[in-house]
Amino acid sequence: MKNIIKITAPVVNKNRVKYNYEVSGEWKEAFILDNDFCIEYDIDISNIPLSIIIIPLLCNILPISWIYDAVIYVESCDKAFYESIEEFKKGYVDMYPKIKFGGSIVAEAVVENSYSGENGSAAFFSGGVDAFNTLVNHAGENPTLLTIWGADVKHDDISGWQNVMKHINSTAQEFNVEYITIKSDFRKFLNENTLTLKVNELSGDNWWHGFQHGIGIIGHAAPVCFALNKLIVYFASSFTEADKGKITCASDPTIDNFVRFGNTSIIHDGYEYDRQDKIHNIVEYCRKEERKISLRVCWKSTGGKNCCECEKCWRTILGIIAEGEEASNYDMSYTDKQLKNFHKIYYIKKNIPDYRRDGVYTKIQDTMRKNLNYEQLPKDLQWFYKLNIKKLGYHPYRCFYAKVKNIIKRVILKILRK
Ligand SMILES: [Zn+2]
Repeated sequence: MKNIIKITAPVVNKNRVKYNYEVSGEWKEAFILDNDFCIEYDIDISNIPLSIIIIPLLCNILPISWIYDAVIYVESCDKAFYESIEEFKKGYVDMYPKIKFGGSIVAEAVVENSYSGENGSAAFFSGGVDAFNTLVNHAGENPTLLTIWGADVKHDDISGWQNVMKHINSTAQEFNVEYITIKSDFRKFLNENTLTLKVNELSGDNWWHGFQHGIGIIGHAAPVCFALNKLIVYFASSFTEADKGKITCASDPTIDNFVRFGNTSIIHDGYEYDRQDKIHNIVEYCRKEERKISLRVCWKSTGGKNCCECEKCWRTILGIIAEGEEASNYDMSYTDKQLKNFHKIYYIKKNIPDYRRDGVYTKIQDTMRKNLNYEQLPKDLQWFYKLNIKKLGYHPYRCFYAKVKNIIKRVILKILRK
């Protein structure tokens, strides 16, 4: 039986859309058909044409259709988006050479949607270093910030989302920009585990990180851009040029930069900067403009706040300190106990991949050595200043351990797939 999805007209009610579709074939396993896929915007979307409103759904099922060689039938599709599909698909094909990408899309009507205006740009905003780098670099354009509830903060984490809302609200006020929030089920209607099992062996990545999250998020902007005449959408880069070939990620310039819909182009923003460059840009901007910002980098803690206990929090804290700033000025206040504990995170737990020790941590240390004497650092952080990062990063025992772990993982995956 061939893998097919037939998409019929969605139900749109003021600010909410519920998608309708019928799935047949073996690839049914990739969907959780009992869960609806709905999106709620905090703007009216009742006048958005079908060819545009369908884009968030298409963006989240296209990669699945390629993997399962499935056919997508849709009544109407935006022309610019329809024509861009092969171009951004190529980004995936090049990133995962071991995987065969099939699939096709059949649209009864391909519709040209035209809008123009001087309403400028929009930018996806999560509140972390990447997002703030994009915001400070494009602050002159007053980009409208877009934040999705259902990406990293789950729908049942109400207090977490309230904190996120508070954070977007205060950031928007500080930067004098508008913001739009989007509540989406895009992580609920798919069977992420099944999809990860399907692609992990040949890609080495999971579904969300390696296949869904870039384009899956970007698609949500289409109705907003049509409604508000936004011609550019910035999607902040997570990685940089130097990471090319070392990591795979669904958000990549070879994918994001080729997505188009209506008159809107997507820009994978900040790829030329590494994480420390981005922190530098943010710190410089705040000094120059006398602005105070709160970074929201932590995904470990529920509640949408920085825990100051995880590796990501500490990576950020160190980066700020290296620029000669107090981390507390960026809403990353840590206790003495948490500071002492970073040693454990870095050394004993060995939970940092080599490419990150080699890249981000080496750059932090170089920046610290350039900007500060080690006596200027808190006493419990001076070890990091003197540390030989390479020695730890390429410890032969760690390499051996990683190889064994990988083999075990592959064997378990094989057993699970049987
Ligand atoms: Zn944290």
